Amino acid sequence: MIRIAILGATGSIGHSTLDVIARNAEQYEVFAVSGYQRLTELLEICKKFQPKLAAVPEKEAIKFQKQLLAAGCKTQVVAGKEGLQILASTPEVDLVVAAIVGAAGLLPTLAAVKAGKRILLANKEALVMSGALFMDAVKTHQAVLLPIDSEHNAIFQCLPADFAKRSFAEQGIEKLLLTASGGPFRGWSKEALQAVTPAQAVAHPNWSMGQKISVDSATLMNKGLELIEACWLFNVQPQQIEVVVHPQSIIHSMVSYRDGSVLAQLGNPDMRTPIAHALAWPKRIPAGVNPLNLIASAALTFEQPDEAAFPCLKLARQAFEAGGTAPALLNAANEVAVAAFLEDRIRFTEIPQVISQVLDLSSIHAANDLEFLLSEDQRANQLAVSIIQKLH
Ligand code: NAD
Ligand code: MG
Repeated sequence: MIRIAILGATGSIGHSTLDVIARNAEQYEVFAVSGYQRLTELLEICKKFQPKLAAVPEKEAIKFQKQLLAAGCKTQVVAGKEGLQILASTPEVDLVVAAIVGAAGLLPTLAAVKAGKRILLANKEALVMSGALFMDAVKTHQAVLLPIDSEHNAIFQCLPADFAKRSFAEQGIEKLLLTASGGPFRGWSKEALQAVTPAQAVAHPNWSMGQKISVDSATLMNKGLELIEACWLFNVQPQQIEVVVHPQSIIHSMVSYRDGSVLAQLGNPDMRTPIAHALAWPKRIPAGVNPLNLIASAALTFEQPDEAAFPCLKLARQAFEAGGTAPALLNAANEVAVAAFLEDRIRFTEIPQVISQVLDLSSIHAANDLEFLLSEDQRANQLAVSIIQKLH
């Protein structure tokens, strides 16, 4: 039995993970879960999977423990940020699914890394923020880091099994082709983008996801965060990554080799595939995903991203190149701007403006100290809040 902790069990990735586990219940046990909002859903999860631990916010802990008892669950509640770190590092847990959204996932994910767990990484923001620090900790603590972001999982599947042991040049790898759907506003002009609403932005054409990543997909910041994520996961530079818009989301990314071969991973757009792949790796388990019908999916098309209408991709690339704390500042500003857009406080096109102002007004420092990084995250947060106040 492999014992699993799911950080962010009530979210979209959490939901897909629980579905795959339920289909393979003879091999996997849900040992611990966390939830932040929608705790009635977390209660249902506890009733169904009977985990040993559940982490909830401090102010909900007593009430939630009572509800568990009333429902006949023996699940023990752990509270707040500390509770999340307990889930991620408790010795009984073999594998941690990092599926909290945003910077809130950094400390619990790092706790799993420092406990040397097998980590299924969905929470790209954690890696974007802390880059070198995160990857160094993976090495030091011999954690096993497996990407479940669909693009990175696809690249992982198209690389040689021991890719991390030698340089890409030695392995004849020329570049990574990171695919993007283009989001709901692909082909829209800058002018048309001025008036888009949160409801339009979260209606992704191919994937059903949480609100924040849906807006990130619409601005192309998701691809920017993924570019940075790929640089750290695969130890490459942005010039070795080409972003290709592929609106059908059937190819999930590719690796291009020196001899002209391009290896791709294909499948229906369903996160249960990369989750099942990483849960069982190097084995394969059923994921409940329909087999790909190539005849029905018809044409697969490709185009260049429109970086003028969607400046977030370029901002992310520049932040990675600036290095140090820049990606953490980018991430913090983006989180604040996306939340403000979802609450109708700023326009869609003001999201990149807020991010670029935060970066322009900040000095970039080395990012080798976690405390300092967290304080910079908070500072950028506050700066983004005040920029938004001045805008309106
Ligand atoms: P979601 O909004 O559906 O779920 C987020 C989860 O995080 C929920 O369980 C929520 O309770 C928890 N959470 C939110 N704020 C928290 C806080 N402050 N403290 C503790 N927990 C908190 O998001 P999602 O779509 O499942 O995405 C989760 C992560 O996976 C994101 O980083 C996203 O970029 C990444 N990801 C998602 C998808 C997808 O298809 N949904 C694909 C690739 C990567
Ligand atoms: Mg992705």
